[in-house]
Amino acid sequence: MKVCIICEKEIQGKAVAVKEDRIIRVLRTIKKTFNVAKMNDLYVCEEDKKKHEERRKSFEKGVLFASIGAGIVIVILLAKTILTGAIEAWSILSGLILAGFIILLPLFRYTPAVEGMNSQLLPLLKGKNEKAPETKIAAGEVPKARESFAVKANSKVTKKSRMNFKKADESK
Ligand SMILES: [Zn+2]
Repeated sequence: MKVCIICEKEIQGKAVAVKEDRIIRVLRTIKKTFNVAKMNDLYVCEEDKKKHEERRKSFEKGVLFASIGAGIVIVILLAKTILTGAIEAWSILSGLILAGFIILLPLFRYTPAVEGMNSQLLPLLKGKNEKAPETKIAAGEVPKARESFAVKANSKVTKKSRMNFKKADESK
């Protein structure tokens, strides 16, 4: 059954498919092991597109802030260990647990991306089969990155060959 993840109703009209990412796969596996998987195909219906986009954005922000927060906890932990010079197993452990907890917080309002959605999310949340955007290159055209490399390589060669030329000249 095709189901909208926002209104949780069956899809009747137009809809966009949800991108299957790691989190969805993990949730599916967990549900399968507990035998509660509904095996629905996840979509966002046309009416909820805007709502979904807002939720996704706030979720992405949450992930960003959580990563920063967890990073700060770890930096404080490192600084404390370095400054005091004492490795306290308990404080390190509790710090890591706190950092892990902060990272997991945004998952409570997890909102997956949909197909064709421009996601700036961390690679962690990207789908496995997601390909890098293909750049189309017209026949005979050199891609920009390669072009500059080619120029650099060429200049090296000419410099070297010029030097060789000079050497040859000197040895005469
Ligand atoms: Zn809907």
